[in-house]
Amino acid sequence: MNLTRSGFLRFLTAPLVLLSRRRACAAPNRRWALVIDNRRCMQDAGCSACIQACHRAHNVPRIPDARHEVKWLWKERFQNLFGAEAVPVAAQNRLALALCNHCDNPPCTRVCPTAATWKRPDGVVMMDWHRCIGCRYCMAACPYASRSFNWIDPKPYITGPTPDFPRRTKGVVEKCNFCEERLAVGKAPACVEACPERSLVFGDLNDPQSEVRQLLNSRFTIRRHPELGTRPSVFYVV
Ligand code: SF4
Repeated sequence: MNLTRSGFLRFLTAPLVLLSRRRACAAPNRRWALVIDNRRCMQDAGCSACIQACHRAHNVPRIPDARHEVKWLWKERFQNLFGAEAVPVAAQNRLALALCNHCDNPPCTRVCPTAATWKRPDGVVMMDWHRCIGCRYCMAACPYASRSFNWIDPKPYITGPTPDFPRRTKGVVEKCNFCEERLAVGKAPACVEACPERSLVFGDLNDPQSEVRQLLNSRFTIRRHPELGTRPSVFYVV
């Protein structure tokens, strides 16, 4: 049998992939999405309640050396996220939140040689850190720089670790998981719950009565780089 290294790894890990996918029970008729109302968001005023809540809930380390930074949710200038031509002039120098877009057509999942990342039927793009071999193909494929790599052991940089969420190790990739562990017990994502301005709205795009669907019907929203065909599940009111 003529197998490449990645083919061999897939062969070895296929049964475990099936098991881990069974564990991740997704609601099949749902399509989760996040709407960020940048007019309400207080990023410019220094608020980072959502980022702190996310990083605390998921044991994201605070590493001072920018070369080793790990982030799930962060602030970025509008023009860096969307390109200057896509954004109203008044909004260009404002800050906006950035995270994994949980793309409906995610290029990151297609390149993973061990199926350590995959898209669930409800749209959540998952990561299994135990299966990640640190090749970083997914990072190269993500056009939004939404994934971080653990260049060093992150554990010393996690303050007050949350015991019921796994900590990662050196050599694996990580990113936002749309709080799949909270969705599984009927809770909203940590960032949504923490926002003091209710500027983050999370819900089911397939439900015409959901707040996200109604917001998309009534407000002008944009997504990051639609020309790439990735179909992000994160929308911005600008
Ligand atoms: Fe993958 Fe990047 Fe899209 Fe997230 S934003 S699903 S990491 S391509």
